[in-house]
Amino acid sequence: MSTPPLPDLLSLTPRELEELMTGLGEPKYRAAQIFPQLHRGVPPDEMSNLSLALRQKLKQAAVCRLPHIERKLLSALDGTAKYLLSLADGNCVESVLMQYEHGLTICISSQVGCRMGCRFCASTIGGRVRDLTPGELLGQVITVQKDCGARISNIVLMGIGEPLDNYENVVKFLHLVNDPAGLNIGYRHISLSTCGLADRIDRLREENLPITLSVSLHAPDDASRSAIMPINRRYGIDRLLESCRVYFAATGRRISFEYTLIAGKNDSVGQARRLAQLLTSRLRGKEKHGMPIHVNLIPVNEVEGTGFTHAGREAVRRFAAELESRGIRVTVRRTLGADINASCGQLRREYMQQANTEPAAETAENSTVTISQRGDG
Ligand code: SAH
Repeated sequence: MSTPPLPDLLSLTPRELEELMTGLGEPKYRAAQIFPQLHRGVPPDEMSNLSLALRQKLKQAAVCRLPHIERKLLSALDGTAKYLLSLADGNCVESVLMQYEHGLTICISSQVGCRMGCRFCASTIGGRVRDLTPGELLGQVITVQKDCGARISNIVLMGIGEPLDNYENVVKFLHLVNDPAGLNIGYRHISLSTCGLADRIDRLREENLPITLSVSLHAPDDASRSAIMPINRRYGIDRLLESCRVYFAATGRRISFEYTLIAGKNDSVGQARRLAQLLTSRLRGKEKHGMPIHVNLIPVNEVEGTGFTHAGREAVRRFAAELESRGIRVTVRRTLGADINASCGQLRREYMQQANTEPAAETAENSTVTISQRGDG
């Protein structure tokens, strides 16, 4: 019989940490001494408020492994820093630290790779290797905060992976990172971006967490969306937008829509008009208090091998103007870190190509059965 793996301290809730302490014959309050330090990145070895004996006991009973900075690229243009972080098993993910007027924002990864198969995205090219644990999600914030020496106040789950495809771990992470004794990052300062797993959006609604949801829409009709996002064959636009409407009705939290502009695929004025009609009819409807609609336009980041190219500046301007003329609020996403390839997935891919260790992994194509069988139970 193999022994179960040791618990990862960074994945434990305060309650679970208490249980670990009592299991070790320690008083419960030890958990309250340990938790805040763990979340500031202090390894148990260095917790000076614990006796040497307890530090030894902890070392034998649990692990605490922060991601390790493998590479760091700093943008000379805007100070954006991109981190390639290695995990305990040697897998790598990316995190990006951005400086905004309202504070430091970190973009974190939710999985090693991704199986959603969006055609324009670098993160999904090798498929999904595995989910990140709550401690690894949190570890990205802790490691980067330690490295930059300033408080990170905002988190976006927009890096490698589909956060709602790693549902339980992501929700546990949200609770952990929000804990007042830990990093204490407010839910309103956290955004989660999804390619549109509608049943998981329904489930997230029930969690009652006032985070901000972003939905990657990228096309105004099923035919063009399915052509670039395989997930659309599972949850079509009608189903997805119905989940969004109910989410807003129940939580009052508005959802923003991501729209990556790709030359010749989804960037025509006609498509902008259809997008405005679609969102207005499904989300604003006839209700007086329908959802305010916000679209983030992102000029596509060209990824080698995908064949997709950037819509020109003029196409972006025309697309935005058409949406605005129809009462939709539009932000054209600023490109941060343009000189360091800051959009996620590209650094890991480059690193793996160098190491020549592309893992065998699931993709949307070879795992549709798994996806549809996972359901939500
Ligand atoms: N899986 C989630 C979060 C990760 S991707 C999601 O799909 O939302 C974060 C955002 O970057 C998504 O809107 C995604 O569609 C977009 N994206 C991926 N590759 C891109 C590229 N090459 N250029 C521009 N945006 C891209």
